[in-house]
Amino acid sequence: MAARKIEAEVAEAYGRTFVKGNIPEINQIRCLGCAHCAVLCKKLGPNVLEVVAGVAKVVRPGNCIGDGACMLACPTKAIFLMSRYDPASPPSAV
Ligand code: SF4
Repeated sequence: MAARKIEAEVAEAYGRTFVKGNIPEINQIRCLGCAHCAVLCKKLGPNVLEVVAGVAKVVRPGNCIGDGACMLACPTKAIFLMSRYDPASPPSAV
């Protein structure tokens, strides 16, 4: 049972492993505010991101399934890390 649970929380795509509980870190300099990441994330269901004042922001970190779809959608590689979300100490992107 435990093995099945872990399997459900790990996704593999494009040779990378994405883990549920990780959220995207958005480089504010690289971000163009194009919203490709936010639109795709909403279309896929989780709806984690919004563009706020011209920059993508993680607004619903608890929804993130860690699949890295946003990272793959970004034309400027502004999302290049998925890091563990800790509500007590959120990264600056949140
Ligand atoms: S896809 Fe990349 S450049 Fe576009 S809003 Fe998202 S993080 Fe910014």
